[in-house]
Amino acid sequence: MGIEQTIAAPAVDQRTGTAPARAMRALTLVADRKIELVETAAPPAPGPGEVQIGIKAIGLNHIDVWGWRGMAFAKRKLPLIVGVEAAGEVAAVGPDVTMSKVGDRVVAYGALTCGQCKACREGRDNLCENVASIMGFHIDGFARDFVNMPARLVVKVPDNVSMRDAVCAPVAFGTVQHMLFDNARLEPGETILVQAGGSGIGTSAIKMAKAIGATVFTTVGDDAKAEKAKALGADHVINYRTERFESVVRKLTGKKGVDVAFEHVGPDTFNGSLLCLKRGGRLVTCGSTTGQSIQFNLFQLYLQQYRIFGSFGCSIRNIRESLAKMAAGLLPVIDTEVPLSEFERGLNRLESRQVFGKIVVMF
Ligand SMILES: [Zn+2]
Repeated sequence: MGIEQTIAAPAVDQRTGTAPARAMRALTLVADRKIELVETAAPPAPGPGEVQIGIKAIGLNHIDVWGWRGMAFAKRKLPLIVGVEAAGEVAAVGPDVTMSKVGDRVVAYGALTCGQCKACREGRDNLCENVASIMGFHIDGFARDFVNMPARLVVKVPDNVSMRDAVCAPVAFGTVQHMLFDNARLEPGETILVQAGGSGIGTSAIKMAKAIGATVFTTVGDDAKAEKAKALGADHVINYRTERFESVVRKLTGKKGVDVAFEHVGPDTFNGSLLCLKRGGRLVTCGSTTGQSIQFNLFQLYLQQYRIFGSFGCSIRNIRESLAKMAAGLLPVIDTEVPLSEFERGLNRLESRQVFGKIVVMF
């Protein structure tokens, strides 16, 4: 959005693949709601099986807001380098790395999976039995000039996809791809209710569902967002502040309900989403931004034969599928682009819910 970068890039030639200078910038969470841009040691040359990525962009997600506010039960230590979702350029490769080369534009998987267990071997990366934490949440993340990663956890970005768009693949697009197509198994011609259609994943879900020929109902919190959601292709947009979405969905489906409900709001909408389902309908959820717990009716669950899927993260295959969609023209909706120094402003904006689409932090 034309905001000037206030901090100079480091004097490092990322094109040559030579080891970076000793110091680099890192955005570090030092206390709850307190992030500082600090100078820290750059990583050493990548070891066997590793690549060094020069980070170019970070995508913000609700998990960043949770981490920034502070979570009593999360096992982690401060200070912590933030940034869960990243894109960049390979700056150096380890001795035996053949899949990546210097200059490749890549995105990184955001959790350090083992690569060895049954789930990993079967490509169900987000079910790794030995996952060593989420980067940027439990352990140091991507908001720094350079990071070393296992080469198996990076995915090459197609030439015609920008860094700004590609950065939305590992978490936002990947999560939605996994929810809609691996878990809920949404099919052409089906109906879907997308809750909070103006959010990063909401906008992604509307576009992906429309792209396969589903009929999309979505909820938004104001009329300006309603117009934008319609422009993305949503068939029925409901302002949940002025109408009861359950009633509207049931009415517009001739009291039958929808095939799939896409949830990430939680207590405020979860039971309403269940009420919108047809018998045998599927609810898939990847988040709960309005709280942790609800009560729901078990009679309704089995009598209506609902299927409920919890979904967290995605597989590396889902990231590839997401990038392929972008290459074919299905691009993420970007709300705002901010420079590294304004990471917290981005988090404030995300927390305020005054967003339509993704907030991207550019290096
Ligand atoms: Zn594993």
